[in-house]
Amino acid sequence: MSRRKIIAGNWKMNKTPSEAVALVNELKPLVANDDVDVVFCVPAIDIVPVVAAVKGSNIQVGAENMYFEESGAYTGEIAPAMLVDAGVKYVVLGHSERREYFGETNDDVNKKVRKALEHDLVPIMCCGESLKQREQGVTMDFVRQQVKVGLQGVTAEEAKKVVIAYEPIWAIGTGVTATTEQAQEVCAAIRVCIKEVYDGATADAIRIQYGGSVNAATAGELFAQVDIDGGLVGGASLKPEFGDIVNYK
Ligand code: PEP
Repeated sequence: MSRRKIIAGNWKMNKTPSEAVALVNELKPLVANDDVDVVFCVPAIDIVPVVAAVKGSNIQVGAENMYFEESGAYTGEIAPAMLVDAGVKYVVLGHSERREYFGETNDDVNKKVRKALEHDLVPIMCCGESLKQREQGVTMDFVRQQVKVGLQGVTAEEAKKVVIAYEPIWAIGTGVTATTEQAQEVCAAIRVCIKEVYDGATADAIRIQYGGSVNAATAGELFAQVDIDGGLVGGASLKPEFGDIVNYK
C-alpha cells in the first residue's frame, strides 16, 4: 500500500503573529508540492493569522498542543473545538518537550489523542527514547509503551487517521540526525506494534514520520525508507530549507 507522505513543520515557541505571516509568505511558493501533505504546526497565537495567510495554498495548519477537555475552568488551555473553528486540521500531541518540561504522561497523551479524534483533528502523536534509554537497549520497549498507551481506546478506523512521529530525544534540536537505519528500524517496529494491537490493514495505513534534526541533506534518504512516511521538522521548518525538505525527491 502506498501512503501519502506528510511533512510537518513544528515552529515550537518561535514567531510573533506578524513574523508568522511573513514566514508563511516567504515559504508558500517554496513548499508548493501537491504530491505530499504539508503542515505548519504553529504557536496558538499564530493560528488565526496563519490560517488566513495559507488560504488558497497547499499548506494545512496544525496546533502544537491541545487540552483534553471540551471547555471550562482550565485557564490557559486551548480546547479542540477552538482549534477546529479556527481552521486547524492537525495537532501535535505528546512532543518530548511537552513531556519533559510540562510533565505530560502517556495517559495525558492518550486522553488528548482520543479527544482530538472526536473532533476530527488529526493527531501527530510523538514518541521517542532518550539517549540513556537507547544506550540501555530499551528503545523498542519504551517506544512501544508510548504508542500502545497513547492509542488505548482508539478504534482501528480512528487509528488509521493518526500520524505517529518517531522522534528520538537525542536527535531533537541537536543537529544529530538518527542514521537512516536507526530511524527505519524503530519506525518498522512501531508498525509491527500497530499490527499487533490492531491488524495488518491498520498498520499499512497509519503514517509514521521521523523527526530529529531533519535537514535538506538527510530528508531524501530518510523519507525513502519503507516505513518512514515523512518528517516532523523543527529548526529547519523556519527557514527556506523547508522547501527543499518538502521537495526532497
Ligand atoms: C521537533 O521539534 O519535533 C524537531 C524534530 O526539531 P528539530 O528538527 O529541530 O530537531
